[in-house]
Amino acid sequence: MSRRVLITAGASGIGRAMAEGFAAAGFDVWITDVVAASLADCPDTWRKTRADVSDEAAMAHLFAEIDAEWGGLDVLCANAGIAGPTNAIGDIDLAEWQRCVSVNLEGAFLATKYASPMMRAAGQGSIVYTSSTAGIYGYPNRAPYAAAKWGIIGLMKTVAMELGPEGIRANAICPGAVEGPRMEGVLEREAAIKGMTRDEVYAGYAAGTSMRSFVTAEDVANMAVFLGSDAARLVSGQVIAVDGHTENPDPKV
Ligand code: NAD
Repeated sequence: MSRRVLITAGASGIGRAMAEGFAAAGFDVWITDVVAASLADCPDTWRKTRADVSDEAAMAHLFAEIDAEWGGLDVLCANAGIAGPTNAIGDIDLAEWQRCVSVNLEGAFLATKYASPMMRAAGQGSIVYTSSTAGIYGYPNRAPYAAAKWGIIGLMKTVAMELGPEGIRANAICPGAVEGPRMEGVLEREAAIKGMTRDEVYAGYAAGTSMRSFVTAEDVANMAVFLGSDAARLVSGQVIAVDGHTENPDPKV
């Protein structure tokens, strides 16, 4: 029987690259996303469910479906996240804060809550969280995002301790700045905030890493596939940056 992976927010960006990576590694792939058109654009060989990770009823239904169809789950990639507001701390609206924390952190919690009974019953499993370098260093004008990504690290550490004795591993990947449509929006907003051009901000981000580079979604997916594999059988409780080594988390170049 093939191994089975669920990837939240698997229809685009990093999640889609993870789905492609696990499929190439021979996994059966199940993805969720909120955008129906993005789901429709993904291969029909993947199972697809439209679900908002912050909606507990939808998540409970999703995992009941997985249990009924697959009878278990080997790897969970709790990947869904939104950028949230880009405001100074004194200008953040509480509702925007709550929505950002809800999707990023509560979504990861809910996926873990419903995946863990299946993994415990099997006595094995690997949970891969998508945090961010924002969760390690902070991120100016992105307080709820950074707080939620830091929260994911706390969740991961706890899950690793709590479920490790039952054969379940948990790790968090912290991507740096990933090329793609989402990053283009970030670059435009940062440029407006800092009074710079998009290209200057781009150069500044790359210059803030030892490798002088942006990250690709495939770079992050490669790490997720490794963490989901038996090659990582004793890797748990780890925060793993895939960021080209951040030297300066807030480049002002
Ligand atoms: P993306 O915007 O390209 O894709 C995100 C996907 O999440 C979209 O398909 C969207 O429809 C889906 N989504 C949004 N809200 C959802 C919800 N409530 N429930 C289910 N799905 C939802 O983003 P990405 O860059 O691929 O980001 C994926 C993860 O990586 C996120 O957790 C993000 O915070 C994290 N991350 C991204 C970067 C980056 O530079 N892009 C850096 C560090 C961490």
